Formats: sequence, structure tokens, C-alpha cells
Amino acid sequence: MTTTTSLPDAKKIGMVSLGCPKALVDSERILTRLRADGYAMSPDYAGADVVLVNTCGFLDSAKEESLAAIGEAINENGRVIVTGCMGEEADAIRAAHPAVLAVTGAHQYEAVVEAVHEHAPPSQGPYVDLIPQSAQMPDIKLTPRHYSYLKISEGCNHSCAFCIIPDLRGKLASRRIDAVLREAEKLVAAGTQELLVISQDTSAYGVDTRHEERDWKGSPVRAHMTDLARELGGLRTAQGNAPWVRLHYVYPYPHVDKVIPLMAEGLLTPYLDIPFQHAAPSVLKRMRRPANEAKVLERLKSWRDICPDIAVRSSFVVGFPGETEDDFKYLIDWLEEAQLDRVGAFRFEPVEGAAANALPDPVPEPVKEERYARLMEVTARISAAKLAAKVGRTLPVIIDEVGEPDEDGDIGATGRSQADAPEIDGNVFLRGASPDLAAGDIVNVIVEEADEHDLFGLIT
Ligand code: SF4
Repeated sequence: MTTTTSLPDAKKIGMVSLGCPKALVDSERILTRLRADGYAMSPDYAGADVVLVNTCGFLDSAKEESLAAIGEAINENGRVIVTGCMGEEADAIRAAHPAVLAVTGAHQYEAVVEAVHEHAPPSQGPYVDLIPQSAQMPDIKLTPRHYSYLKISEGCNHSCAFCIIPDLRGKLASRRIDAVLREAEKLVAAGTQELLVISQDTSAYGVDTRHEERDWKGSPVRAHMTDLARELGGLRTAQGNAPWVRLHYVYPYPHVDKVIPLMAEGLLTPYLDIPFQHAAPSVLKRMRRPANEAKVLERLKSWRDICPDIAVRSSFVVGFPGETEDDFKYLIDWLEEAQLDRVGAFRFEPVEGAAANALPDPVPEPVKEERYARLMEVTARISAAKLAAKVGRTLPVIIDEVGEPDEDGDIGATGRSQADAPEIDGNVFLRGASPDLAAGDIVNVIVEEADEHDLFGLIT
């Protein structure tokens, strides 16, 4: 007679991930760790033994969204653990939602995993316990397979007046360069065609570890943005192609000049995301911005001389306390001259705990609105002209999504050029896709039309 032992069902985790790409990477790490502990993922509230809500606590509006998401998870499932940036405000969360099981703060991976173990103990048994500890398993990704965020550090050493990230996430803590490169290599081997390097301040990578050197494939490599960029530029996909490598949150420190030639050589994607936030010196000073230097326009020009195709994206805050009409006009003139490719703008919003809240001369809401509209109009015009100049050119485009054939059998697809980061920039809408085109393919596209934000083209 044979006896059979049935495997115990793995406990299931639901995940609601809010906030920025950095928070998304945290969610991926937590889930990867939980899966290594024998948990399974639940795509819906109903099937989950416990729901994790990874919150964002940066702006008051983000906090409201986080509290609403916690409320929804409690109503739908009832067993909720909160983590992430808003976890620093455990009292506010418990006051709004006394039923939460546990609250842990930003990137406290151990604490959140422990809370899950406590409130949904992992299933145990002779087979489950033999599950290999992630060595053979790919990490869990919440982004599509073809692009991945690569987080190189946590925290920030600056103290910008409008920002509470250093309070939420602590001082800069850089990851080891060999660990970052190993992760990048693994992601590329698993199908990533585009790596998005993120942190709070990518240019400062390794400052806290004195740019600690590690051995990487027999050579010393420093924890430094330029070494990182060069090594990432040397990675190859299974098909032998260089993956796209985008640098986000780069402050224009002098060493940024060194990565521009790598873009010209095709080792790095010609794209820089630099959060300038403003241009008027007096506003930047009150904002306490790092790398607040006057020569940015000259440097933009020299970068374009070296790499004419470089796309520069940035974000700006309008209506910062004390911003005068002259300050704002300075910003507009600066933007006209800088000719940035992509611009995001925000109206200043006080964040609880930020130093800027104590500044005098708040800008009235209608003035903020009016400045915001003017800035958007100028930047949309610049963007439209820059995109119109691409009509007729052939550009590489990475495919994000392939559609169904229409009545004439034509298949459309949506992708992005090298000037477009996922989620934040524009798209390239394509016709003439072949049925075997797939997400992550990089194809050449003739640009046929452009509008303010997007391109339209035909796959060659
Ligand atoms: S650089 Fe400034 S805005 Fe960016 S995370 Fe640091 S303190 Fe915040």
C-alpha cells in the first residue's frame, strides 16, 4: 500500500503598490523575499491571506491616496499590513484604520517580512521546506519583462526645503557596485531590454562608501556613477544587443560630463533625467537645491555638441514660496533657451514636515495655476517643435504593446523612442507591425507625424 502526502497550500499575499518607481522596486524585493519563504502571490483581494499596501507619503495628496488604498484593502480583505514611506506615520494610519495588522516603514524589508510571518505564518511541510531559497528562481518583477528599474542607493544627503525624503528614507546608503551589476546582469539575462537606473540622487552614488572599489569580472570597479554607467553599457542581451540604459535623477555635478561620451558611443541611452526644479537663483537658493550652479545652460550646449541626440527631461515646481513674477519669467526664459525635450511641472504643495512650509510669501493659488498653465504652454510648444524635427527620421523604438489586426489586417503597436522613459514621457504609435512582433523588440521606425508629446510612424 502506498501513502500519499498532499502538499499544503502556500499562503497567498496580495500587494497594492503605490508611489514612485523606487517604491515599486521595494515591492518587488519584498515579494521576491516572501516567495523565497514559500508564499504565493494573489492577483486579487479575495484570494489573499494577507494584503500588503506599500504606501507613498510624499505629498498630502499621496497620503490621502495611501489611506484610501488601505481602507479599500481592509474592506475587501480585512487583513492588511502597511509598509513604505507613509509607514513612518503609523499613528495617522492607525487613527484612520485601527484594523491594520502591522505598520512598517520605508525599505524595512525584514520588518515587513516578519509581520507577514506573524500574521500569515508560512505553510510548513516536508516539501514546502525544501523550496530552494530563490537561487533558481527569477526575482519577482512588477514591471513588464522587457524593462526593469535598477535601484542603486537609498536615501539622500541633501535637504531640499520642499522635500521630506531624507526624513523618510534616511541618509544616502549606496549598494555595492558588484551587487548592482550582478542584479543588472541577471535582469538582462532574464529578458530585460531596458534598464532604468534610479535612486534619489544618482550622481551621488557611492559618496557615502567613498566610492568603494569591488572586483567585477577580474577588474576593480568603483561605486561611482561613471564606472556604473560604463559597466552597464557593456552588458549584452541573449541576442548580443546592448540593452538600453537610462539614467534617472541625475544632478548636474561636474562628473556627469563624463557619461555624455558614453551616450555618443551608443553605450548608454542618450537620455538624462535631471530634476532642475527651477532656474531662478533666488528660488533655487530658498529651495536649498544641490548642484545649483549657473553654468547649466552652457553645459547643456556642450552635451549636445558631443551627443546631438541627447534627450533631457526635467521637472519643475511653480509657485514656491517667495517666487516673484520676475523669478517665474526668469524660469520661462531659461526654458526657452534650454530647449528641454521633456518637462513635468508641479504646483508647489506644502508637505507636512518640510522646511519650506515655514517660508514667508506663499504664492496665492490662482497665481500658481496661472504660472503652471503658462509653463505648460511653453514646454508643450518646445516639445512639439522638437518632435516635429524628428519627422522623416528613422529611429530605434522599443515595443511596449502589440495590438490586434484591424479590419484591413494592419497591426498597430505602441513603443517608445530612446527619448521616452516608460510611464513619464511620450509614446511612438506604430503601424505596419508584423504578427510576430513582441513587447521588448527594438525595431527601426520611420517617423511620419508628431504632435506635442508623441510620435507616429511606420516600422521599416
Ligand atoms: S535631492 Fe532634494 S528633492 Fe531629491 S530626495 Fe534629496 S532632499 Fe529630496
